Amino acid sequence: MESTNRREFLRKVFLGTGAALSLGCLVSGNAGSPDSFISIPGSGSLPKHDKMRKASRKEAMYYTRLDRQRIRCDLCFRKCIISENGTGFCRVRENTGGKLYSLVYGNAAGLQIDPIEMEPMYHMLPGHRNLCVYTASCNFRCKHCHNWHISQRGPSQISARQYSPRDIVRIAKRRGCKSISHSINEPTVFYEFMYDIAVAAKGEGLLTLFHTNGYISPEPLRDVLQFMDGVTVDLKAFDEVFYKDISMASLQPVLETLQVIRENNVHLEIVYLVIPTLNDSMEEIGNMCRWISKHIGRDIPLHFNRFSPMYQLTNLPRTPVRTLEAAADTARQNRLRYVYIGNVPGHQTGYSTHCPACGRMLIRRTHFTVERNELKNGGCSNCGMKIYGIWE
Ligand code: SF4
Repeated sequence: MESTNRREFLRKVFLGTGAALSLGCLVSGNAGSPDSFISIPGSGSLPKHDKMRKASRKEAMYYTRLDRQRIRCDLCFRKCIISENGTGFCRVRENTGGKLYSLVYGNAAGLQIDPIEMEPMYHMLPGHRNLCVYTASCNFRCKHCHNWHISQRGPSQISARQYSPRDIVRIAKRRGCKSISHSINEPTVFYEFMYDIAVAAKGEGLLTLFHTNGYISPEPLRDVLQFMDGVTVDLKAFDEVFYKDISMASLQPVLETLQVIRENNVHLEIVYLVIPTLNDSMEEIGNMCRWISKHIGRDIPLHFNRFSPMYQLTNLPRTPVRTLEAAADTARQNRLRYVYIGNVPGHQTGYSTHCPACGRMLIRRTHFTVERNELKNGGCSNCGMKIYGIWE
């Protein structure tokens, strides 16, 4: 039987089968089991009260005033021009009186604790507990979004609860988490909250990371990377037409983001969701692998995840496992060292880490559970080759 993954869990919560959760109950599981989580969702009350609205507002960090009426948001590559009382494409940045405000500062749609592998992030302290923070909305419009219940809604349309960055850090420490991640919805849209959490978390010795679509502008990216240990980037396709038609975005900025992260020496992992007929040609996947190998590096872990019909793409089938395996073979043929297959519970080798030099299985995972870890001082226990990652 398939284990519940984070996306399936969220879908149940927001579609109502998790009604008890949306009333503020706490659900706990055994850390490390495939479907374990401790979820602290929103309080169930929509942020409709003035007090809540006010608490969620914070002046944005990156914008330019163009004239008396208009502002340009400089946070992401969209560079929205926003008129008085208007919001940007992401719905959560508003021009009020000539100043740009984030509308989701501290306004967490949920907090979730589960193994770090669920980010996915496989080369960072395997198996440790991670606290994930998320809010409403996104700066993409992906037709296949698995989290559309929150990502395609504004802050007034979802259940949320107010937390300070210090609250988040306290919860993470109290619950034995070694890291805090910002994911589920696009963290760029709650940048100021993420930034302040990361600063507070570093002061308490926690690891910090975020999972992004890569559309953030270089300056805010560089600024937040100073307080980040790891980033997972979705590379949704290696084709501008896909980005335009499926996500209402473009590929080139995402490639720039990957390069900036690499230049700043922050741990990086890449996810490629393989969607039948849209981005599953081995020619496209091969081109992407060659680009990664040349411009980012062969050490960067690459996750080929399985697509399931979702949101506006329910007409397509699930990705055949053989397609994912062919994609992984293509990546290895292009000399990428750490290649994974995701969203296929029970896959024999797709979740595990192998030494690229001698082939020994170093970390055996069953879905998101680490069964065995044979790394020795961050290297292969058999041949001694150093393995890319944060291991201590
Ligand atoms: S963060 Fe939002 S408002 Fe700012 S440029 Fe991007 S989509 Fe537009």
